[in-house]
Amino acid sequence: MNVAIVGAAGRMGGRLIQAVLEAEGLELSGAVERPGHPQVGTDAGLLAAAGYIGVPITDNLAATMKNADILIDFTFPDVTLKNLEICAKLGKMVVSGSTGFTPEQKDQVGKYAEQIPVVLAPNMSVGVNACFKLLKEAAKILGDDFDVEIVELHHNKKKDSPSGTAVRMGEVVAETLERDFNQVANYHREGMCGERTKDEIGMQTVRGGDIVGEHTVYFIGMGERIEISHRAMSRDMFARGAVRACQWLQGNKPGLYDMQDVLGLN
Ligand code: NAD
Repeated sequence: MNVAIVGAAGRMGGRLIQAVLEAEGLELSGAVERPGHPQVGTDAGLLAAAGYIGVPITDNLAATMKNADILIDFTFPDVTLKNLEICAKLGKMVVSGSTGFTPEQKDQVGKYAEQIPVVLAPNMSVGVNACFKLLKEAAKILGDDFDVEIVELHHNKKKDSPSGTAVRMGEVVAETLERDFNQVANYHREGMCGERTKDEIGMQTVRGGDIVGEHTVYFIGMGERIEISHRAMSRDMFARGAVRACQWLQGNKPGLYDMQDVLGLN
């Protein structure tokens, strides 16, 4: 299966190029960056420190997708939506790890997924997806007696906040407790903001240095506390997850899937 990568020169791009080159059954057929990016024209293999492979980075996704079966997209929501439009027209599959979608943008992704198979996941790591499952179980057992707070840490270049993973963790807990996440998420406490409400889910963000990504969900009861934490030590496991999603997506019908589907956890 021929794979193209968009966002090729980004922090995830190099890891994705390496992961596709190492993956069984996948060939890297193209790599794309934004027009004007200094790495356009550079060989993708050289960019990923994997040696020359004869795949130059282009700035034209539509032309690059002609030779590809599937697109791996780690960019930003507005870019991803444009990429989905191109892939839907060409009938190509998409695996996107972009984060920061508004509910309206997520709906738009869903519309494109009526035409092509799409995996969209704010976190492609197997460990984080295991955490989603554990959170569901913990929320089921602990119920409304425990206050839920989520803290996430990321590097100082991250653009969206809180992370897509933290939001998904909040959604999983809220859905299990039959709450509407958008109603109960509390992103801000400052000054005389009053006591914590029973249903709220606190969302706290730390930004600094080169932290790849850390998430902790606290279930805080009277006299005891449970913490479910995930710490990412490198970006390679996100890239391996994206490769796994490509291998899984092959042969699937159009639709919107996530890593829980890919890993058989749903
Ligand atoms: P980055 O800024 O290092 O890389 C993004 C790349 O996209 C840049 O090189 C940029 O030039 C390129 N780009 C921007 N506009 C473009 C366009 N129109 N066409 C082609 N390329 C374009 O960011 P990053 O750290 O690599 O993260 C990228 C995205 O992936 C973010 O949304 C991040 O939150 C997400 N992410 C997801 C996971 C996951 O597991 N799902 C893991 C890590 C990061």
